[in-house]
Amino acid sequence: MKRYRMLINGEWVEAARGAFFPVYDPSTEEVTAEAPDAAAEDADRAVRAARAAFDTGPWPQTTAQERGRILLRLAERVRKGAAMLAEIESRNSGKPIVEAEFDVADVATCFEYYGGLATKVMGHVNPVPDNALSLSLREPVGVAAQIIPWNYPLLMAAWKLAPALAAGCTCVLKPAEQTPLTALELAQWFPEVGLPPGVVNIVTGFGETAGAPLVQHPDVNKVAFTGSAAVGKQIVKMAADTIKRVTLELGGKSPNIFFADADFEAAIDGALFGVFINQGEVCSAGSRILVEHPIYSRFVEAMTEKAKRIKLGPPLERETKMGPLVSREQYERVRSYQEIGKQEAKVASGGGRPAALARGYYVEPTIFYDAPNSARIAQEEIFGPVATVIPFADEKDAIRIANDTPYGLAAAVWSRDIFKAFRMVKALRAGVVWVNHMQPTFVEAPWGGYKQSGFGRELGPWGIEEYLETKQVHINLNEQPIGWY
Ligand code: ADP
Ligand code: MG
Repeated sequence: MKRYRMLINGEWVEAARGAFFPVYDPSTEEVTAEAPDAAAEDADRAVRAARAAFDTGPWPQTTAQERGRILLRLAERVRKGAAMLAEIESRNSGKPIVEAEFDVADVATCFEYYGGLATKVMGHVNPVPDNALSLSLREPVGVAAQIIPWNYPLLMAAWKLAPALAAGCTCVLKPAEQTPLTALELAQWFPEVGLPPGVVNIVTGFGETAGAPLVQHPDVNKVAFTGSAAVGKQIVKMAADTIKRVTLELGGKSPNIFFADADFEAAIDGALFGVFINQGEVCSAGSRILVEHPIYSRFVEAMTEKAKRIKLGPPLERETKMGPLVSREQYERVRSYQEIGKQEAKVASGGGRPAALARGYYVEPTIFYDAPNSARIAQEEIFGPVATVIPFADEKDAIRIANDTPYGLAAAVWSRDIFKAFRMVKALRAGVVWVNHMQPTFVEAPWGGYKQSGFGRELGPWGIEEYLETKQVHINLNEQPIGWY
């Protein structure tokens, strides 16, 4: 069993209290590692390191070119270590190894993207009507506290760190307590890629004990959070006292909408992929599957048929398409929603745990149908492989049901009629809308939600904006006195 340490000011340290928490392999339910159980004093130490690195150096003295090169070297190092990272990620989170490999490739791409973008942050000359030079400068917002979830552990770390570093911020990253390992592995390479001590600090621990003190800390300027809506609401309240900039990527209950004229085979695949990828532990999961009346019964049947053939098993086996859920807590949560669903709707497939797998937090891919959109399984984020299929009558009905949720992260529409599909694109209240696909995500395009799915956008040029301040500079060119008094 490996005992990890966390990274504060370039040093690998234990928590001040000396406590550790266990890290599990969810496919065996066994403890495979330990990580420091950080508390307020550790969070404070990390923030002070990030503050000093930002205020006095070395980070403010580095040029955008240098920061960019550090990120590019980190990307290269991730590619070299990809097999190791993917294996640890898969073992710790339960996600199939093939998916973990895609994640790690995306991690490298994210560092590359922001490595390139670091030198493209530009200010403006403002056309003021005065004998003056008016500029707007873009400056880093300061120390960023970044709190991330367990579903894409390393990818979420990259989405947070890459734009912040490109912008010139310093960071304290808190991985989820379920999945702290790959962020710590990544951090081992910071010295060799030239990232100075204190610029990125990694604090491992639980939300209330290690996360909340970061959000409340007066020396933190910005909080970037990805996680549950419930915690997102607490973060906004905690950040209010010190007026921190906050960005939130919270969950969703995203509709995946199928019109009768969609390509049927592609639609069935898209419905299953949309909701069962990564065991359904996806903030943009297409967990409400809206199907037009004429194809509804055939759709449920075909989906069920295919869902029964999804290969569940140990995440490290290459043919596995679905691994265990991340933790006992999440397993119990999803199991309870399976029971709630049985009261609210009909079961097409699944509804329990797979009989063939005795150990591990496995649940069957589960499809409920004939649910009203008001059902709990249609309104609440489950964050597991549970799909709720809902019939609709026509385009208007589809829009009404699709938008009838407090969330607005993502949506997808399947149709061969481009007029209808594009009308839907405009009508859907969601930050990401796919047409004839669901889930592909690229670093070049904005990511984030409407409504209670949060605010702020990650990725692309939008992602770096969230880590930048704008400073107005007015340079008087008139050498005479103002002449007012
Ligand atoms: P889940 O319930 O699925 O674990 P959370 O939103 O609780 O999702 O967790 C996402 C991240 O937020 C994790 O890193 C977790 O430790 C952190 N977190 C949880 N509660 C708090 C809190 N009160 N303050 C700050 N961070 C928190
Ligand atoms: Mg939690």
